[in-house]
Amino acid sequence: MKRRISITITGRVQGVGFRPTVYRYAQAAGLTGFVKNTPAGVVVEAEGGAAAVAEFVERLRQQPPVQARVDEFKTAALPLGGEKDFQIAGSQPSGDLLIGIPPDLATCADCGQEIRDPTNRRHGYPFTNCTCCGPRFTIVRELPYDRVKTAMSTFPMCPACQAEYADPANRRFDAQPNACAVCGPALRLINTHSEPVSTADPIATAADLLRQGHVLALKGLGGYHLCCDATKPEPIRRLRDRKQRPDKPFAVMFQSLEEVRRHCVVEDHEAAELTSIAAPIVILRRREERTLPPDIAPDTRDLGVFLPYTPLHHLLLDRLSPLVMTSGNRSEEPLAADEAELEHLLGTFADYALVHNRPIVRRCDDSVLKMTGRQRLFIRRARGFVPAAIRLPHRGPPVLAVGGDLKNVFALTRRQQAILSQHIGNLDEFAGYRFLETAVDDLARLLGIRPEIVAHDLHPDYAATRFAREFVAPTHIAVQHHHAHVAACMVEHNLRGPVIGVALDGLGYGPDGTIWGGEVLLADYRTFQRVAHFKPCRLPGGDEATRHPLRMAWSQLVTEFGAEADAMAAEFLPALAAEERTTLRQVISQGVNSPWTTSAGRLFDAVAALLGFQRPISYEGQAAIRLQALAETAPLAPYAFALEKARDPWIISFGPTLRAIVGDLRAGQARSHIAGRFHRAVAAAITETCAGLRVRHSLREVVLSGGVMQNDFLLGLLHESLHSKGFRVHSQQLVPPNDGGLALGQAAVALARFFE
Ligand code: ZN
Ligand code: ZN
Ligand code: FE
Repeated sequence: MKRRISITITGRVQGVGFRPTVYRYAQAAGLTGFVKNTPAGVVVEAEGGAAAVAEFVERLRQQPPVQARVDEFKTAALPLGGEKDFQIAGSQPSGDLLIGIPPDLATCADCGQEIRDPTNRRHGYPFTNCTCCGPRFTIVRELPYDRVKTAMSTFPMCPACQAEYADPANRRFDAQPNACAVCGPALRLINTHSEPVSTADPIATAADLLRQGHVLALKGLGGYHLCCDATKPEPIRRLRDRKQRPDKPFAVMFQSLEEVRRHCVVEDHEAAELTSIAAPIVILRRREERTLPPDIAPDTRDLGVFLPYTPLHHLLLDRLSPLVMTSGNRSEEPLAADEAELEHLLGTFADYALVHNRPIVRRCDDSVLKMTGRQRLFIRRARGFVPAAIRLPHRGPPVLAVGGDLKNVFALTRRQQAILSQHIGNLDEFAGYRFLETAVDDLARLLGIRPEIVAHDLHPDYAATRFAREFVAPTHIAVQHHHAHVAACMVEHNLRGPVIGVALDGLGYGPDGTIWGGEVLLADYRTFQRVAHFKPCRLPGGDEATRHPLRMAWSQLVTEFGAEADAMAAEFLPALAAEERTTLRQVISQGVNSPWTTSAGRLFDAVAALLGFQRPISYEGQAAIRLQALAETAPLAPYAFALEKARDPWIISFGPTLRAIVGDLRAGQARSHIAGRFHRAVAAAITETCAGLRVRHSLREVVLSGGVMQNDFLLGLLHESLHSKGFRVHSQQLVPPNDGGLALGQAAVALARFFE
């Protein structure tokens, strides 16, 4: 008995070798019919004996290609067609876009071997790829994912590549970016005047130049890197000067995992991340013996590490490793990705550039994460993860959620899926704002989404809010900053709420016009109630205070200790001159351009300043990072704090903590000890607050979010102490707890409100 069926498969099914796999399975089962890419996903029609068809369907269901992610798998019976064979049909350009575009995939082991094999025709070829690896998100112009719709459209395949592409038994069967030295993109080494450097081997010469101490711009997948020899202090210093980035940690690329292990402690799940197809930057603990110049990451004991993820990286690192690799831009500006920007890089930052002629269609930074146990803690979610979709709690009309002003990421939704953008960056820079405009346009077009709801932060002065208001759509919904943080974490864990939402954060606009950031909320998606918060103090000079931990320390001392504060400051805040103290005290007491804030981030800044970090910060979070690095992790008793339950919302006061810190400083206690006890006081205060709330509201779920949760020491303490009190504790592992995860929460809240 013959039968014919159709199968429609949606999810991440294009650019991952799906059609070749279907083809092979169909051949093996002796079926006829076809497979094709459509905007609705992969469509298969297969015909043959009933048993063979059933077996084929089962095999495809059980063993899709490794990089695929199947969301839906639908079958239907059809009348017989009577073809002679099974074919891969041409793509169909229109319809409802439901397919997922794969992220860029790091070079696979097979391709890695080929480029190092002198007998292989791809020996030394830096753009080698196959169906399992290579660029995807950064080269797709539009869907469906076919070579003509990618940055490879101008490179017609040579006969040898074409033969691989057409051969179902080949690893490159249907690999859209397939290329070789004969037909594919080519490398070029150029100097500061964009003139070619004459060399038969650009990679070897580039390695020599790096060895001599030069800074090299390197064209990667989603933009340019700036790199230099990671073993030499001098080029690192020069790179810092040129980028105006005095302290912010640089990432280091190592040739191999073995080499990483010589410099850092690598746990199994960290090794798994480093060697995964996403190949993110993983933050590891440096070994005690300082093997690389401390200037690479002066503020911490950690080091951001990654492995080569393109053949070009492999070939370069084979010749010289390790290399400092940092995004090619001025600090906080979008990653440079086009020719004009390269010229700017060459004039300003780099001495040479190793470039090629495959255009970068879409900018995309490296992802950065840290492992806390087996769980990912994202600092930045970009290459290798974008544009993988995240499941939402509600189905609804398409939403554009614009995110926040720092570490901006926006989200687009389709039915029950949220697609988060790559890291856009800081919007207070004009270039960042421009990037947001073009990236929203680009991703909406690529995914075929026309937003009907625009979600944005409550902050009236955010550039992102301005952008949202100007975006034409039927509905606009404002979402409070910390409600969005909490909701983002709820989405990840598929929680319906209500939950106890703990948002420890930098600055976020509160509905009362003050600046929130140390918040405990009772929240579901639709709404929230502020049930407890850190004791407010003044933010002298507004947002600008974020740059000055010293001023935050002074503001805390004045708030807590009044007249006593002067003696304390004279003793422990020597960098604050007496006149400045007086001026700031006036500003604080009169509230001139000094809003009230409950920010947890600013409390960490204040304590960092008391413990000696008294200069302005040079990058976001610097003082808190120093404080974490300082903290003794051995068990210590938490400092005292006060939970004022007579007020509504409750007030979590660290006045007693600050007094104890000053006392310990006077007693000459080690700063590491003080920092350790402070971290424990914050964890203990949150735990006691949650325990008190449970009595009132009988809730067991606690979600943890906000930028302060990037502090994995604090996060670990919170998990531990809340868990020991019987709470189910959830923190974020799909998107960053910082403002890079805000858009996901905004989208979920907007959808919940839309249906109220
Ligand atoms: Zn490969
Ligand atoms: Zn070729
Ligand atoms: Fe935030």
